[in-house]
Amino acid sequence: MRATDVVVVGAGWAGLTAASHLAARGVSVTIVEKARGPGGRSSTRREGVFAFDHGAQYFTARSEAFRRRIEAWEGAGLVAEWRPRLRVFGPRPDSGNGAPDRRLVALPGMNGLLRRFAEGLDCRYSSRVVSVRFDSHWQVELEDDSKLESKALLLTAPPRQAATLLGPDHLLHAQLEGVEMRPCWALMLGYENTVRTDFDAAFVNQGGLAWIARNCTKPQRGSAESWVVHANAGWSSSRIEQDPERIADCMLGELRDIEPAFADDPVVRRAHRWRYALADHPLSAGCLLDGASRLAVAGDWCSGSRIEGAWSSGVAAGRRLEALL
Ligand SMILES: Cc1cc2nc3c(=O)[nH]c(=O)nc-3n(C[C@H](O)[C@H](O)[C@H](O)COP(=O)(O)OP(=O)(O)OC[C@H]3O[C@@H](n4cnc5c(N)ncnc54)[C@H](O)[C@@H]3O)c2cc1C
Repeated sequence: MRATDVVVVGAGWAGLTAASHLAARGVSVTIVEKARGPGGRSSTRREGVFAFDHGAQYFTARSEAFRRRIEAWEGAGLVAEWRPRLRVFGPRPDSGNGAPDRRLVALPGMNGLLRRFAEGLDCRYSSRVVSVRFDSHWQVELEDDSKLESKALLLTAPPRQAATLLGPDHLLHAQLEGVEMRPCWALMLGYENTVRTDFDAAFVNQGGLAWIARNCTKPQRGSAESWVVHANAGWSSSRIEQDPERIADCMLGELRDIEPAFADDPVVRRAHRWRYALADHPLSAGCLLDGASRLAVAGDWCSGSRIEGAWSSGVAAGRRLEALL
């Protein structure tokens, strides 16, 4: 059995931010991720010449701390601004009078920055954690029956899954169970020819869709005509168990109703289900902590939602665990 200071479950923004913080301070960290690489909901999928950011689309910075981090990443060429021609379909929400947020994307895909965070860290991909148990140290069991031992544990799985891992008697169980995550169906479309629209990105406030984006207008995504479409939470939720092929048909139909320029048949057409996309009512806790067992639970849902929330939750968890070790 391998022993380490901290096992981090999940190589998304929260997990890798915390892991980088700890590793930079000499703490030994092992990251366990069930997917084949880092990114989580901030991912890029490639199909031949096409690239699709099928989860998070871009990020914004509200806090001074995140703004400063973004400046550093921009300076290092890891992040760039995306300036799409924007449209709104349906009623326009009241957006207030403030200056519009800068929309930033990681390069060359939404997981680009996380790949950089993961460099030099001990990351185990394609490894699902199936149980965790505390008895003076944490015993973490993986799907392939191998085990890890650590002094501290950070869970960044969605709150329901973190609750299941900890079990019904754990003191954080009820709080974790209480955080609802809304689903989102995403549709990836690749076209042979340019789709002649007067927008590169659109917020949709009518029918079943929520967002349409021409992915290839983001920096470093290549020139192949790739689009990402998201359905809204209500539409996705009522069809969550449907067959992806049928979902793709329905979403394409909705898209064509809104914008007839999508009449041509795409050469790539793939639906992806995000079962836990965004928190309904995110907490503003930073991270959840059980100091006695040196356990932290973190994620976007814990700190105001979205990438900035995941980052700030990861920072909070890294600092709290460092103080406990
Ligand atoms: C469709 C969609 C659109 C979005 N749009 C935006 C946007 O435009 N702007 C924005 O700022 N945010 C957006 N978000 C939200 C953003 O993607 C998230 O806030 C952020 O990526 C969350 O990071 P995280 O580390 O908290 O969680 P995650 O990225 O979900 O990371 C958790 C990781 O844990 C892993 N994991 C779970 N269980 C286990 C286990 N048992 N064993 C091992 N590994 C496990 C998962 O595979 C995952 O990689 C969007 C999300 C979705 C789904």
